[in-house]
Amino acid sequence: MKGLEYLQAELDEMKENGVFRTLVPLDTEQGSKVKIEGKTVIQLSSNNYLGLTSHPRLRDAAMEAIRSYGVGTGSVRTIAGTFKMHAELERKLAEFKHTEAALVFQSGFTTNQGVLSAILTEKDVVISDELNHASIIDGIRLTKAARRVYTHVDMESLEAALKETQSYRKRLIVTDGVFSMDGNIAPLPAIVELAEKYDALVMVDDAHASGVLGKNGRGTVNHFGLDGRVHIQVGTLSKAIGVLGGYVAGPQALIDYLIHKGRPFLFSTSHPPAVTMANMAAIDVLISEPELIEKLWENARFFKEGLLSLGFDIGESKTPITPVFVGEDKAAYELSDRLLEYGVFAQGIVFPTVAKGKARVRTIVTAEHTKEELEEALSAFERAGKQLNLIK
Ligand SMILES: *Cc1c(COP(=O)(O)O)cnc(C)c1O
Repeated sequence: MKGLEYLQAELDEMKENGVFRTLVPLDTEQGSKVKIEGKTVIQLSSNNYLGLTSHPRLRDAAMEAIRSYGVGTGSVRTIAGTFKMHAELERKLAEFKHTEAALVFQSGFTTNQGVLSAILTEKDVVISDELNHASIIDGIRLTKAARRVYTHVDMESLEAALKETQSYRKRLIVTDGVFSMDGNIAPLPAIVELAEKYDALVMVDDAHASGVLGKNGRGTVNHFGLDGRVHIQVGTLSKAIGVLGGYVAGPQALIDYLIHKGRPFLFSTSHPPAVTMANMAAIDVLISEPELIEKLWENARFFKEGLLSLGFDIGESKTPITPVFVGEDKAAYELSDRLLEYGVFAQGIVFPTVAKGKARVRTIVTAEHTKEELEEALSAFERAGKQLNLIK
């Protein structure tokens, strides 16, 4: 069919530059080891921090939900698609996050879009960290509010933006809690102090902190002892929680407002029973099996120290996300391909996901990895890194 040649031209250029990628289908369920094209490899690219995607309690909850309630809900939440279990999960999340209320969206992505597009008008301004997640950027694109972008985690830059926006009705500072491509943690105590000084609102997207940081994985706000001082907490149920979904936790007024104005909530069908019941089981697991989070951090420390002592540049990472910086896009793919050959699945991350010249292979260890698997992965990194002249 004619018409899309302009797309093909761009794809051809990507192929020439060695940055065209195909999807990598797994033959097995998610885990510390997975099978890709018949080959078993160590998985270092998933967000399955706690191994919950295949946890028996979540599996059972999902199967029981299907047996009792079927596979779909048949409506959006606001018409006929709210089951008791949806409200129950939201109550559980609010309790878990120490907030008045919570509201679940289809994904973390739609949560950011729904919240940001709903709560701001042209009278307001949103002030965003330059490395915030794409879903925050897209959410901001959907609001009529003015926007300012501050230099990544730079509090002087944030303060400058706060100083020059004092005429707006509301100012909303928005930041990732943990930055997904670098693994560094937002300086939330400083952000909250500035927000209080300048009477601004704070929204934190804890996608990579949910189930990872804070008591029982409550996130960065709890990690820093800031409960009650952050207006809007976004979380995902798709990463450490192991299932699918996103949520916003905060004051009742915010939640009531979003039930009326959060567009993905209003116009896209609610989660099927299996997803909702598995999410609920996951929160129970976070509370009753804290040893999973301890194991995650033990593994993260071990793997980071290993990469550092091999001489790799891992940037400012402070979490189980550890980027291995290589510079050019092509080098990231070369390292990733070589690692796969040696039995390790770690994806290269390149422009436009990260800045030009900041290409990297991003690794995420999980609670499921054994010491032996991590040692094996480190020796694959050593071999590939030496061959590609990334380390000595
Ligand atoms: C992954 C991610 C999201 C999207 O979450 P999904 O539930 O996968 O849609 C949102 N924000 C950040 C910071 C993320 O890392």
